[in-house]
Amino acid sequence: MTPQGPPMAYRFLLRLASFVCPDHARAAWRQQWESGLRDWWILAERGELTNEASALAARFCRGAWADALELRFRREQLLHALRGPWFPILCAVSTVATAGLLSHGFQVIRRVAGLIRHAPPLPLNLRPHIHYDPRGDIVAAYLAPLGLALLIAVMLLVISRLPVRASGWRTWVHFVLKTLAVQAAVIVLWFEGGSALRSVIQSEALRILGGGLVLAILFIAGFGAATRWCISDQRRRCPVCLRLLDMPVSVGSWGSVFEPATTELLCAVGHGSLSLSERDNTGPDRWTALDASWRELFENASSPEAR
Ligand SMILES: [Zn+2]
Repeated sequence: MTPQGPPMAYRFLLRLASFVCPDHARAAWRQQWESGLRDWWILAERGELTNEASALAARFCRGAWADALELRFRREQLLHALRGPWFPILCAVSTVATAGLLSHGFQVIRRVAGLIRHAPPLPLNLRPHIHYDPRGDIVAAYLAPLGLALLIAVMLLVISRLPVRASGWRTWVHFVLKTLAVQAAVIVLWFEGGSALRSVIQSEALRILGGGLVLAILFIAGFGAATRWCISDQRRRCPVCLRLLDMPVSVGSWGSVFEPATTELLCAVGHGSLSLSERDNTGPDRWTALDASWRELFENASSPEAR
C-alpha cells in the first residue's frame, strides 16, 4: 500500500498557522512543521504509534499553532499589550458587543426599559389593585438586584483607598471608563445571559429559584467583585502612562508596626515606583516619581539588544 500522506485537514491547519508567522520566518517554519507532520504520519501508518492517530495529529497541529503564535507575538509583546491601559476596557466592550449580537440587540434590556417607560402611574387612592399586573414583578425582579448591586459598588468606591486628589485627570478618566465598561458587561451578561439560561430550564420551580434568585445573588456578588477588581487594578497602575506596574517586591512584615507589609512596584517605562500598602490601616499608597535620567536606564534594559 502506498502511503497516503497526512490528511488534508491537518495540512490545511498547518498552512493556516503559517500565515500567523512573521513574513521572514514563514517559509522555513512551514517546511519544518510540514516535514514533521509527514514523518510523524508515516509512523502512524506503520502502526508504531499506539494512541489514536487523529488525536495525536490534532495535538501536533495545536503545537504548531502555539509555536506560530509565539513567533508572531513574543511573550514580552503579549505582556506589554496585556499591561496596557486599554486591554481591560477592550475586553469589557467586546463582551458587551458579543452579548448584543447574540441577544439580537439587547432584547431583554430593551423590553425591561419599555416596561419602565410605559408603566401606569401610581394610584392616588390606597385601594388595593383589582387586576394583578405581572409586568411590575418583571421590572422589580431586575431593578431590585440592580439597585442593591449599585449601592454596594458605591460603598466599595467610598471605602476604597484611591488617592482622589493626588491622581491626575488621566487616571480618573481611565478609571471611570474601565469601571463603567466592566460593570456594563456584568449587567448585560446578567440580563441577556440570565434570560437565555432561564429559557432552557424546563422546571418552573428551578427556573424561579436557580435562574432567578440564585442568578440575582450571583449578579450582585459579581458586580461587587468586578468593582473591587477595577479599584485594585487602578491602584496598581502608573499614574503617568496608566500601564500596570511591574516587578513586585514584598517589603516589611504583617506583624511589624514600624515596617508594615508593603509591595514595591515599578513602572516598566521608568516613570516611578509605588509603595502599595497591604494593610488597611497603614495609610495611603506612596508614589515616588523618578526623573528623566532613570528612563534611559529602563529603555536600555527593555531593548532587544540588552536581552
Ligand atoms: Zn509609567
